[in-house]
Amino acid sequence: MDLTRFPRRRYTPFDTPIEPMPRFSAALAASCPGGRGPQVWIKRDDMLGLFPGGNKTRKLEFLMAEALALGADTVVTCGAPQSNHCRITLAAAVKEGLHCRFVIEERVPGSYDPQASGNNFMFRLLGVEAVTVVPGGSNMAAEMQKVADALVAEGRKPYVIPGGGSNAVGGLGYVACAQEMQQQLFDMGLRIDHMVVGSGSSGTHGGLVAGFLGNHIDIPLIGVGVSRDPADQEPLVLKEAQAVADLLGLGITVPREAVRSVGGFWQPKYSVPNEAMVEAVQMLARTEAIPLDPVYTGKIMAGLIGLARRGEFAPDAKVLFLHTGGLPSVHAYEATLLKS
Ligand SMILES: *Cc1c(COP(=O)(O)O)cnc(C)c1O
Repeated sequence: MDLTRFPRRRYTPFDTPIEPMPRFSAALAASCPGGRGPQVWIKRDDMLGLFPGGNKTRKLEFLMAEALALGADTVVTCGAPQSNHCRITLAAAVKEGLHCRFVIEERVPGSYDPQASGNNFMFRLLGVEAVTVVPGGSNMAAEMQKVADALVAEGRKPYVIPGGGSNAVGGLGYVACAQEMQQQLFDMGLRIDHMVVGSGSSGTHGGLVAGFLGNHIDIPLIGVGVSRDPADQEPLVLKEAQAVADLLGLGITVPREAVRSVGGFWQPKYSVPNEAMVEAVQMLARTEAIPLDPVYTGKIMAGLIGLARRGEFAPDAKVLFLHTGGLPSVHAYEATLLKS
């Protein structure tokens, strides 16, 4: 598929590596029924550009290109108190010479501490222009529009990016990722049987679904919910995949069965630690020296581990895990991650 008709900025000057994880796979197999488990590979989207990058970097390549094309001088976006998306959007804005403002949703009352470590530290280091804090459950689109309206009243040109950068334009980042992977797997002579990805605001999962359909890639995708179980998550992903497919002009209705997610790994709540997450973070750090974060990738990997132990993957099936980044929040949860 030709994506060159969509304006794009480049924030990563290379393809992110796809690597085998032999020591992790052996440790996982030892805990699976019969001592046999999948061969797990990893796509290192934690190595994407932008202070440090993650999956939002790919979406922002297309979103920032649109902001610049429209003549914006300020980007406005939103997220949770330790938002990776806010950090990476701010980093992209700095790089492009634009201002950046956030609306932070305090899902846990009183949880936003501007002096906190992790992403909050980076918000200040990168020089965020203004932060508006609103209570959990607020209409975030309306709150961002208020900020944008105030900017317009001052003669500025805001560009509003939805939470997680997950709209049709942002989803193109993961269509581009699907194409990158397709070429890499071909070059490596590697056939993957399943791919496991995180599923939150759904631009990553939905963009990959559209990108797989558009490029005729038939690797089954499993989204691990980071804040919702399948009954709530799958319709969101389907909607995002359809919006991306429409923007691409694929002329298809995304089949309902192209979207599969699993729940049960994000509880008790979005961003609140659980034991399986701590086990996953420690296991990957101690077998492959690859850090995962507590809010997203730790729970997503806990999903892969849980599915493997349930016998979801045939022994020796090749499973590709997408590392979506999120490393700064590790530092906001140090004590939890070192608990035995
Ligand atoms: C935002 C995020 C996700 C979830 O991706 P969505 O596109 O929002 O579904 C997963 N991992 C990390 C580290 C993230 O920051």
